[in-house]
Amino acid sequence: MSIEIHSQALGLASTNTYLIGDTHLKEAILIDPVDDAPALIAWASQLGWTIRMILATHAHFDHVLASAALQQQTQAPFYIHQEAVPMLQNLPQTGLRFGNELFPAAAVPNGYLADEQLVSLGKIQLTCLYTPGHAPGHIAFFLPSEQVVFSGDTLFAGSIGRTDLPGSHLPTLLHSIRTRLLTLNDEVNVFAGHLEATTIGHERRHNPFLLGMR
Ligand SMILES: [Zn+2]
Ligand SMILES: [Zn+2]
Repeated sequence: MSIEIHSQALGLASTNTYLIGDTHLKEAILIDPVDDAPALIAWASQLGWTIRMILATHAHFDHVLASAALQQQTQAPFYIHQEAVPMLQNLPQTGLRFGNELFPAAAVPNGYLADEQLVSLGKIQLTCLYTPGHAPGHIAFFLPSEQVVFSGDTLFAGSIGRTDLPGSHLPTLLHSIRTRLLTLNDEVNVFAGHLEATTIGHERRHNPFLLGMR
């Protein structure tokens, strides 16, 4: 095996961040710079890896809070979907909803992710799946070699992403889940933005929000 995946939950919303490492190259892609850039860098270096790329599933604060600091401290490029940019640029004001402080500005993207785009580093090959509905420009990342999909805030173990937020829309989210995630094999592991891991098959059969979907 030359690909390893590690995760941890960090920050105010206990958001999962993922490191996908090519263990031969000792280089990694980080999905969702959720919080605390120094902790993310220390985590990678404990594994012996250098973070070479930073991806974001969407621009909610709990997924991008450390984006600028991590980009600056690692010099790794940061990528997100273009439709997520207005929300990304609004990150400082979001802080006022959680206290009286502005959040730090988010990273300026080095490029934009598109549906079906292949993102690769060494042996790691991710496919971008455009999955809006929870947030504008939401992207899930499918890693076929490991049979893993990083679902962001679309599909959770036993639940789905919130759709009561600005820019979210329930029918669009359900369409994204049905056409882009439930089309994956039952064996595919779902590593989501919150809560524990699950599989496509388990959610297809048991997730109460997906009953009646095929
Ligand atoms: Zn979200
Ligand atoms: Zn979230």
